[in-house]
Amino acid sequence: MAHIKLYVLENGKLVGPKTNSVADADPSELQTAPIFSVLIEHPDGPLLLDAGCHTDEKRQHPMIFKDFTMRPEDHIESRLAALGVRPADIRRVVVSHLHADHSGYLELFQNAEFFVHEDEFTQRVKLYALNDASAGSNGDIAFWISLGLRWTLIPAEEPEREILPGVRVLNFGAGHSFGMLGLLVELSKTGKVLLAGDAVYNRENAGPPVRLPGNVCDREGFIRTVRRIVRRAKDENALLWYGHDEAQFAALIKSTEGCYE
Ligand SMILES: [Zn+2]
Repeated sequence: MAHIKLYVLENGKLVGPKTNSVADADPSELQTAPIFSVLIEHPDGPLLLDAGCHTDEKRQHPMIFKDFTMRPEDHIESRLAALGVRPADIRRVVVSHLHADHSGYLELFQNAEFFVHEDEFTQRVKLYALNDASAGSNGDIAFWISLGLRWTLIPAEEPEREILPGVRVLNFGAGHSFGMLGLLVELSKTGKVLLAGDAVYNRENAGPPVRLPGNVCDREGFIRTVRRIVRRAKDENALLWYGHDEAQFAALIKSTEGCYE
């Protein structure tokens, strides 16, 4: 088994209406949603899952910007630097989806190969080309194209792909967004970790019964995917990590404290 270390990088937080994550919540209730990315140190080179939220207002979805706070140490470059990793060292970046709180700093990793769901990429680029602001990351897309980032698109019909020994990209399909990816990582001491990202926003979405978030791209897809992820984590005896669960995140070992291996 490849010796892999997994670091949880804290990248700030969103404080907004709870209905964002659970549609039938009390409309006056607020929730804190941590934003994090994950560094995987692997014998075949370091890999990153997601890249935080950009601090420039123009590079964000306006809805996210008003709710977003980040300390200087939360910046993904600072988090990596504290571990002795430079952006140029990162060989692969798996982008769970192209929302502003996950793809904010992709531009830092210009030596990397970027894995993204083909439908997510196609739909976001289409919205950008149509000048449709609902995409929320139009400023990013223009920037990514100008930089000539190297994309590897995971097609809808490919359920998963082992991109490194012990690291599988899981294809969750449409749900929270047009095309969602996650990771299943096999660690020698911890065992397996299934990183669901926003395919399962938090514990309350997981159910049963599955609870829908306020903003959802494909309702049926979301429900189907959550059930599939919960079952897969059980079958694999894997830890299931949600995308923005405050209580779960508080209990995780952060990169400032140590790592999972
Ligand atoms: Zn998110």
